Amino acid sequence: MSVKIQMCDLVGQYRKIQPEVDEAMSQVINTSSFINGPQVGEFKTNLEKYTGAKHVIPCGNGTDALQIALMALGLQPGDEVIVPAFTYVAAAEVIGLLRLVPVMVDVDYDSFNVTLEHIQKGWSAKTKAIIPVHLFGQSCPMEEITDFAAEHHLYVIEDNAQAIGASCTFSDRSKKQAGTIGHIGCTSFFPTKNLGCFGDGGAMMTNDDALAEKLRMITVHGQKMKYRHEVLGCNSRLDTLQAAMLNVKLKYLDKYSQHRYQAAQFYSRELKSVHEIEIPKEMPYSSHVYHQYTIKVKDGKRDGLKKYLSEQGVPSMVYYPVSLDEQNAFKGIAKKAGTLDISGKLTASVLSLPMHTELSEEQQAYIVSAIKAFFG
Ligand SMILES: *Cc1c(COP(=O)(O)O)cnc(C)c1O
Repeated sequence: MSVKIQMCDLVGQYRKIQPEVDEAMSQVINTSSFINGPQVGEFKTNLEKYTGAKHVIPCGNGTDALQIALMALGLQPGDEVIVPAFTYVAAAEVIGLLRLVPVMVDVDYDSFNVTLEHIQKGWSAKTKAIIPVHLFGQSCPMEEITDFAAEHHLYVIEDNAQAIGASCTFSDRSKKQAGTIGHIGCTSFFPTKNLGCFGDGGAMMTNDDALAEKLRMITVHGQKMKYRHEVLGCNSRLDTLQAAMLNVKLKYLDKYSQHRYQAAQFYSRELKSVHEIEIPKEMPYSSHVYHQYTIKVKDGKRDGLKKYLSEQGVPSMVYYPVSLDEQNAFKGIAKKAGTLDISGKLTASVLSLPMHTELSEEQQAYIVSAIKAFFG
């Protein structure tokens, strides 16, 4: 292989837009407006235009976004919030930190995401909110989820850290971007996310004016006016440097998503005949921005395949090796909605292959042939 295969090639991506990024960064440095410089406001507007959300509120990272979103809802300790068991820890963690009760529900085997059926199993009279996570780049079925939420007066906070740019289709054929459908959408600009910055960053989105105002206040110590603190808040900001480079990268996001999609089609074409694995399924109600290309490896062969690939110079990752209900941190804190069999099954079989905007067909052909060689 002429170029070393990586899970995510950030340097390669940077090289292609280097002059533009460097210029944007040096503009910030030359004015030294590192906190709340004009680029932050520009990015807010650019992301509002891109997503169609009425309000974007930038913040320090995706985990903060989820925490601030929950803080804005005025929930009481002991109130229950439904989250998937098979996902990244952030959503469940902030629920627990705020002394709310994470109710962990199972996920759909095909999409890795929660559906109405799973949410219904976690629902009780104490449920106040749902956090659907749009895992690996595909939206949850949001129409049925928001309908259920409206019926039971629940808040919906979308964890859209992995699916920025994906759109969800409704039964009247209208489309909305993931992250703009519930009461609040949260996203992360962690470097390896589909829209990543050069450090930590995050944002919240909402179409609700009153919620937007609350979210904004909470990010600045609960103040509306300087030194007047209306509520308890925190300090969570998107650095001007990060906003400046996100302004550059946002212009390329659709192109990046297309590249990921094409790479995914290549994998799926080549791997669908390998009987020992299952390729990812695309759901009819969502587009897919392939934050991860995640296969399921049958018959307990996942770890063997991972090791073999690594020996062939092909990195791969297990997202996620342990479901949240099995994590020590949630002992005595979380509730489980029934048996979480699918989540358990997924943790034992999933394997994410290299997926990024610089992946070449030559690299992919090599990866595919290594997988085929392993299964002989
Ligand atoms: C990355 C991620 C987060 C957290 O984002 P940070 O910016 O790292 O705090 C939350 N949820 C999901 C699903 C993620 O993938």
